[in-house]
Amino acid sequence: DIISKCMNLGIMVSINQRLEADVIELVVSEFNYEVEFIGVEDAAEMEDDDEEDDLNDLKARAPIVTIMGHVDHGKTSLLDHIRNTNVIAGEAGGITQHIGAYEVKLEDGRAITFLDTPGHEAFTAMRARGAKVTDIAVIVIAADDAVMPQTKEAISHAQAAGVPMIFAINKIDRDGANPEKIKEQLASMNILVESWGGKYQSQEISAKQGLNIDLLMEKILLEADVLELKANPVKVATGTVIEASLDKGRGYVATILVQNGTLKQGDMIVSGQNFGKVKAMYNERNQRSEIAPPSTPVLILGLNGAPQAGETFKVYADESEAREKAYQRGQILREQGMRAKKHITLDEIGRRLALGSFKELNVIIKGDVDGSVEALSDSLQKLSTEEIVIKVIHKAVGAITESDVTLANASDAIIIGFNVRPSMQAARLGEQEGIQIKLYSIIYNAIEEIRSAMEGMLEPGVEDKVLANVEIKEMYKFDKATVAGCIVLEGKIARNNRIRLVRDGIVIFTGELGSLKRYRDDVKEVTTNMECGLTIKNYANIEVGDIVEAFEEVEVKRTL
Ligand code: GDP
Repeated sequence: DIISKCMNLGIMVSINQRLEADVIELVVSEFNYEVEFIGVEDAAEMEDDDEEDDLNDLKARAPIVTIMGHVDHGKTSLLDHIRNTNVIAGEAGGITQHIGAYEVKLEDGRAITFLDTPGHEAFTAMRARGAKVTDIAVIVIAADDAVMPQTKEAISHAQAAGVPMIFAINKIDRDGANPEKIKEQLASMNILVESWGGKYQSQEISAKQGLNIDLLMEKILLEADVLELKANPVKVATGTVIEASLDKGRGYVATILVQNGTLKQGDMIVSGQNFGKVKAMYNERNQRSEIAPPSTPVLILGLNGAPQAGETFKVYADESEAREKAYQRGQILREQGMRAKKHITLDEIGRRLALGSFKELNVIIKGDVDGSVEALSDSLQKLSTEEIVIKVIHKAVGAITESDVTLANASDAIIIGFNVRPSMQAARLGEQEGIQIKLYSIIYNAIEEIRSAMEGMLEPGVEDKVLANVEIKEMYKFDKATVAGCIVLEGKIARNNRIRLVRDGIVIFTGELGSLKRYRDDVKEVTTNMECGLTIKNYANIEVGDIVEAFEEVEVKRTL
């Protein structure tokens, strides 16, 4: 019956063929059924939902903290200081090995677990794999510097994940330190710290001299109290893999973070498509332990492979069941690998709207100047309707970076670039992960296109098609003109193409070529890997390292 229905719909299928999701939807509706799709993560979550916790079993657990911030503002110094000084009172031996996370106990007996890979890139990469590990983010900002681009990124990444933030204003021992200036800059981003009447905790510290670190710890614990972090140590363990690798002598080793339940030596665990019996467990002080309660990081031996960081794990009572689960997961992963995950795109909005499953459009905005970023962000947010809310999860000035693409991947967002370009790595990653990067040079066009996408009515329109990228290698001065000596990185540039001049990912001029030469001769076009000389009509401010992008406008058809 299904095959003949498919044929009626004009789809030729055989009996052992797997159907695409939209075909399944279509066929099922012909039989008057509804279909519900679940992903691997949903399947895993459903398994976890097995039993209700007895309220008496729920115990407070230590918060798990990630440290983020701009480069050189002191993240590593802070982690090092905490690691080196906060050894459990009276215990011999400090933290001797890097296992990706460590736990510190304070004098009053309370504990905090730190993830030992600072930075929002690692944080969001884990989140993109579905891991929810961090409870609290500490954002480090150097008091002798300012709120920098990566500080803003870190804040956006924490906000997109819904993780509360505490601000550590570092380097207060330095001469030029001005913590109030930092607080003021935060306030201008709508982030008010407590002393400015807001809700965010902040602490002035010196990571180098160990100043006020104890106060920062107290604030972390205070935030943890508010979050009422609880876990049930009586259950079998579940959690997340932080790092995994193959060790010459010991086989596969994995650092895992137990998030609920208690892990015991000898437990059978499954993580992704790997499984194995926990042969031995070590803490960050390289001591063997037999059990790991909630919020404890441990290094375990015994898995049959190295799961990816961010992969969850679960304990199974029975070895054959564990083997079976791991095998099934492997199958689903292979299947998923073959069908690239469908991320949101402007075309996809219409489809999801039709399915009734679309509520929120996440966007990341990058632009050439602050004014246009703000204008675009305001206008887009105003497009929000009762059905669809537009949420700007990150906005900043500058080229589109890899970190933007990772954030879009983790938060299912589209990236809008206004007069900016993605870096080469960002473009590659975006293509690989199926993230839509839309580039505009007229604000009105951006708004109109997104408005019609939200109405599910994308019209055919015109879009820029890049024909060539040409890098400026040298500038030659002649009597009359300055000629740029360049090489065509990719594509073919023609004398009559329209061009844009791009510097550090930002479009600084749009216009036409004044001339295009090979040696002394005027030429019509130049192709990949060839050198050429060019000038731009009515524009002289060309610099070595700039990119000339040749483009034309093409009609785009919509596939709705
Ligand atoms: P990260 O890139 O954020 O991990 O920054 P690092 O921890 O590597 O620190 C960058 C530089 O700042 C290093 O030279 C540190 O010694 C220095 N530094 C970090 N914290 C402090 C501090 O509290 N005071 C002073 N004076 N220097 C610091």
